[in-house]
Order: sequence, then structure tokens, then C-alpha cells
Amino acid sequence: MIRKIEHLGIAVESIEDSLKVFEVLLGKESYKEEQVISEGVKTAFIQVGDSKIELLEATNSDSAIAKFLDKGKKGFHHVAFEVDDLEEELARLKKNGFILIHESPKDGADNKRIAFLHPKSTEGILVELCQEKSS
Ligand code: ZN
Repeated sequence: MIRKIEHLGIAVESIEDSLKVFEVLLGKESYKEEQVISEGVKTAFIQVGDSKIELLEATNSDSAIAKFLDKGKKGFHHVAFEVDDLEEELARLKKNGFILIHESPKDGADNKRIAFLHPKSTEGILVELCQEKSS
């Protein structure tokens, strides 16, 4: 079951520069900065009510964020939905014809297991599903 919009991912050239904008825009500071080596990104999170803004900066040129920016794009990158059972949701969506970028969950930022759906099957929007890691 999908619970809520967990966060919106925003691709930026520089987290340091973009935080100056988003922290003033939202009137609060980032609560976490974290590097995800496997994805080649640095992230920063700002809480907005029940959801978050995730800023993403590429740490190498192979990163999906670097490729996104190289195409001349910037800003909104993906929407992340929180689910209560990631494997179950992936199976449900696959059965319904959605294209999975990740067939099985992987580690993401902010203590989450994540998997992405291909925008080809989601009306052009990159969709992330995430579930809090049980501690
Ligand atoms: Zn995300």
C-alpha cells in the first residue's frame, strides 16, 4: 500500500548554493546531508510538513543526476512514495505492466530501502518507492 508522498527529489548543481535558496524559501534548515556512493550523489533533506524536499547533487559524471543536468534539465527530478511493503508493491506494479528500474530494493539515503520505476511507464515522471529500514 502506498502511504504518502515521502519526498520530492530536486536535481541541483550545488547543494551548498541550493540550500541557501531552499532554506530561506521553506524557512527551515536541512536536517541531514548524506552521500549515497552507489548512486554517485550527495543529498540534503529539508522537512516540509509530513513530506520532505531532497536536494541531489552529482558526485561523479556517471551519476543519474549528472546525466540529467547534462541534458540541460534542472529542478524537479523524481517523486518518492512511501510504501509499507516494498517487495509487495514492486510485485503488484510489475504485474500491472510498470517497468521497474530496480527489480529488488536497494539502499537509499535517509535510512530507506528504495526502488525506481521507469518514467516510460509512469507518464514521464520518475517514481521512487521507499520504505523505512527497520532498525
Ligand atoms: Zn529520492
